[in-house]
Amino acid sequence: MTAKEQEIVNAGDVNTPFRVLQTDNIDDSLFLRKKSINIDIKNIAEDVHWQLFIQRLKRTMEMEFGVGIAAPQVGVGCNLFLFTRIDKPGLPVVVAVNPKIVDHSQETICFEGDGCLSIPNTSGTSRRYAWIDVEYYNEKGEFIKERLSGSSRKGDFTGIVFQHEFDHLHGVLFTDKLCD
Ligand SMILES: [Zn+2]
Repeated sequence: MTAKEQEIVNAGDVNTPFRVLQTDNIDDSLFLRKKSINIDIKNIAEDVHWQLFIQRLKRTMEMEFGVGIAAPQVGVGCNLFLFTRIDKPGLPVVVAVNPKIVDHSQETICFEGDGCLSIPNTSGTSRRYAWIDVEYYNEKGEFIKERLSGSSRKGDFTGIVFQHEFDHLHGVLFTDKLCD
């Protein structure tokens, strides 16, 4: 993290949400287009700084009623996001650090009702993979490899949330991926 990013993280306690960057603000929109960098995951479980960041990010997502949120959306250009397991009971929120999509379906689908906490008053239909094989580390530094799928807002769409948040780490927004 840069000094400025550390300042953002340390400006509140675990219950303080971050300000979410918005595309209708010029400085915010430039930051949202930047590529994020990998995190040194060694000792992440004991690192109070990263744990504070994760807690505040969770709080932010909760307050904004999101199903996912990526670090760059709060001004931290690091490869980390949260996604909701819509495919699991109780809808647990999972932390993905240094995530990768290592394989995906050939087939793409049009996902209706995509939206973003950083893009005010906009929703649309985005082109997505039907399933993805992913690798990431969780907040304890454990390595996870799994297949995520789901393509409908009416049922499971965990794989779509992962793809949406993953794109944020590359400066890509759902409005870049609209069907037709
Ligand atoms: Zn988004």
